[in-house]
Amino acid sequence: MKDLTELSIAELDRAYASGRASPVDVVEAYLDLIDRRDEVVRSFLHIFGDRALERASALAAEGSNGRPLYGVPVAVKDNICMRGLPTSCASRILEGYRPPYDATVVERLEEAGAVIIGKTNLDEFAMGSSTENSAFGATRNPWNPDCAPGGSSGGSAAAVAAGLVPVALGSDTGGSIRQPAAFCGVAGLKGTYGRVSRYGLVAFASSLDQIGPFTRNIEDCARVMEVIAGHDPHDATSITGSPPPLIAGLESGVRGLKVAIPKGTEKWEIGEDVRKSFDETVDILKGSEADISEVDLPDVDASIACYYILANAEASSNLARYDGVKYGLRKDVKNLVGMYEQTRGEGFGEEVKRRILLGTYVLSSGYYDAYYTKAQQVKALICDGFEAIFKGSDLIVLPTTPTAAFRIGEKIDDPIAMYLSDIFTTPANIAGLPAISIPSGVSDDGLPIGMQLMAAAGNEQVLLLAARFLEKRYGFCEKHQPDFGRLEGGERDGK
Ligand code: GLN
Repeated sequence: MKDLTELSIAELDRAYASGRASPVDVVEAYLDLIDRRDEVVRSFLHIFGDRALERASALAAEGSNGRPLYGVPVAVKDNICMRGLPTSCASRILEGYRPPYDATVVERLEEAGAVIIGKTNLDEFAMGSSTENSAFGATRNPWNPDCAPGGSSGGSAAAVAAGLVPVALGSDTGGSIRQPAAFCGVAGLKGTYGRVSRYGLVAFASSLDQIGPFTRNIEDCARVMEVIAGHDPHDATSITGSPPPLIAGLESGVRGLKVAIPKGTEKWEIGEDVRKSFDETVDILKGSEADISEVDLPDVDASIACYYILANAEASSNLARYDGVKYGLRKDVKNLVGMYEQTRGEGFGEEVKRRILLGTYVLSSGYYDAYYTKAQQVKALICDGFEAIFKGSDLIVLPTTPTAAFRIGEKIDDPIAMYLSDIFTTPANIAGLPAISIPSGVSDDGLPIGMQLMAAAGNEQVLLLAARFLEKRYGFCEKHQPDFGRLEGGERDGK
């Protein structure tokens, strides 16, 4: 019989219904694993043990009442607001900040019966691809603690990969769910822009940000997405109307599905092991009942340049509010400008400052047209390119990242190299499209590799059923898992 901490959401539901376990047993079992493993992984910034246990016993007393996430432990990225609890964005500038309200996703999770266990580490303000930009230290990849878990939602991805929670939420502005999902061997979904409410998500680049789930399997991913998706009047960019059902069609297979494979992949600068996994994926699809065709993708190089202009421009404006007046840190000096300078100088880390400077630069008069306006034009071209593809196709398949996880420290002094790990993920944000990463195999070093599926705006349904099909064919979870013993041994190569 599986341990309680190995159960999927549906299996947990059955364990509760049969009386094998109560939400208290499950929360206790996960808290115990966190105790044993998170000293090495460091995925959590805050653990709400007592709150979670109280909530679990309240749930046990109430019974499930058909709630879809009854007694499911969840971790939440620490840029998502929970009322009265710390929300640090892994930044010193939010020291002591406790939001007066819950994010819509938090409300929806709790209404659905989930138990939020804690908040996870991230790159400061979600800016980064390795979680090394956290003011509170890097998270480690459960598959090899010397490697980065990816980022910016590295804490959430690592927590799920280390088995510390079955579900975690992250946010994805340029790949921050899909890239760490790929590095950590878990599923990570970013919905269509506007599918999940951004209310209570600390803004990085508002036109690109989306919250989404990390899970161990696709069915759990569909279950969580069904709960958090949907219109929210608190978010003006939220999609109106009902979101598509995701679980109902999950097992329907890929028969007749029009799958687009990008042309010119031989020119991609990607690792041999990623290429091999991509080729295997193409072979699986060619051998299936899907209809395969080749398409020209919009320029991925242009899309990364465009992303780093638009995202930084929006970030420089969004982060202007942290000035020592309303939120968190305030450095007391005698004059106003001095307070701004000292608070922002000490409160923000280096990468955040770099982004604010770049963003301010591309928005400043004299440069605005050359950079910001041009990036908007490139964005329009990328959107048109995808629209044309999705007139004739249901899905695009491509790798999530050019390589498997890199080592901690390897790219931290080379921002451009770090930015390039987002080359395949930024297009979906720029075009507002749904995209998912699923673990497809392992690298020569035994680290996970992720494949990415993209679909037309609004079509999460097709994304998930194709992901489910591939999941069965890859058999990743049956073949591979991290060495949990190593995580519990406390060995960290002296780091
Ligand atoms: N790695 C990208 C960046 O640094 C994406 C971050 C994100 O999606 N939040 O901006």
